Amino acid sequence: METKRIYVDHSATTPLRREVLDAMLPYLERDFGNASTVYAEGREAKKAINIAREQVAKAIGAEENEIFFTGSGTESDNWAIRGAALANRAKGNHIITSAVEHHAVLHTCMALEKEGFEVTYLPVDQYGMVSPESVKNAITDKTILVTIMTANNEIGTVMPIEEIGRITKEAGVLFHTDAVQAIGMMDIDVNKMNVDLISLTGHKFYGPKGSGALYVRKGTKISAFITGGGQERNRRAGTENVAAIAGLGKAIELATADVAAHTEKLAAIRDRFIERVLAEIPYTRLNGHPAQRMASNANISFEFIEGESLLLMLDMKGISASSGSACTSGSLDPSHVLLAIGLKHEVAHGSLRVTFGESNTMEDADKIVDELKMIVARLRDMSPLYEAVKNN
Ligand SMILES: *Cc1c(COP(=O)(O)O)cnc(C)c1O
Repeated sequence: METKRIYVDHSATTPLRREVLDAMLPYLERDFGNASTVYAEGREAKKAINIAREQVAKAIGAEENEIFFTGSGTESDNWAIRGAALANRAKGNHIITSAVEHHAVLHTCMALEKEGFEVTYLPVDQYGMVSPESVKNAITDKTILVTIMTANNEIGTVMPIEEIGRITKEAGVLFHTDAVQAIGMMDIDVNKMNVDLISLTGHKFYGPKGSGALYVRKGTKISAFITGGGQERNRRAGTENVAAIAGLGKAIELATADVAAHTEKLAAIRDRFIERVLAEIPYTRLNGHPAQRMASNANISFEFIEGESLLLMLDMKGISASSGSACTSGSLDPSHVLLAIGLKHEVAHGSLRVTFGESNTMEDADKIVDELKMIVARLRDMSPLYEAVKNN
């Protein structure tokens, strides 16, 4: 009999909740109409989009007309940054971001540099934290946009968004945050956070892949990213993916219904995992902030180990986890986030990201630690570097 697999890669993606699938099915079957049409199948589709818009707005303390649906978190990031940069070009050409952002943000900023924009990539401290002071000091009279993520997808560090928001508000600079990881992990309120633009994506909170949203504060100057028909009030053209939008709406409603209970459970599992790994496996370190971190995230470096080998051996034991970053898996470049917090290349290479979610239990955490102890010992036995240290 096959034993149950343990999935601990919720920062890469999450399974679809049953209730979310149920909310999507009518729009794949009976109510398949184009939401721009006047007959019943279209009207029902339109209604579903309106409900989802309400659900997203409510979840983040926004108004319905400030929510725009997109095709992914990546698209939301691209649109927010490029759209704000182009629409505010007359005011200035300077953008501030951090060294630990997701590639959807970093690569968009780098592309804009080739188009005449100037970008400051703020360094982070040893925990991956951006200091609000450094944001303040980087703002010039040419600055038009600050983009800093709410919580880091690799090491889990939660950024001081409210403080940064106060600074950008005072300076009259637009503030975008990639909150893709943060939904369901902490309270997100656009006014408390003082943000103008927020990116989110359905598949990170038990919704469908290919569903995203961008919050745009009323009055924010931002150009359209995809041009064409008049969908999304002329801001994002293309026939709406109604089922995905309905799913995103349902998913965010459920994910934000009881954040405290959800994160309390996850944090207990995560803490047990981290404590046991650090206590029972030598030459390990926790990456990311010890306290200001997402309840789901444990990122650990194992010296004298190749992260990829670790992942393969965990997979054989039925455990699905991630190395430093899902995006760099398969490439030899170590994670830009782990390098930014000061890890040496070889230590960064030996990193494991475990991100817990809904289905995980304390027993899962224990099982992973038990397997890790054996796997790490075996891999180190094959490492000449470890041999040298052991005999020293
Ligand atoms: C997953 C992720 C994205 C990209 O979202 P997609 O919907 O997969 O395109 C962007 N930013 C962060 C922080 C993420 O974790």
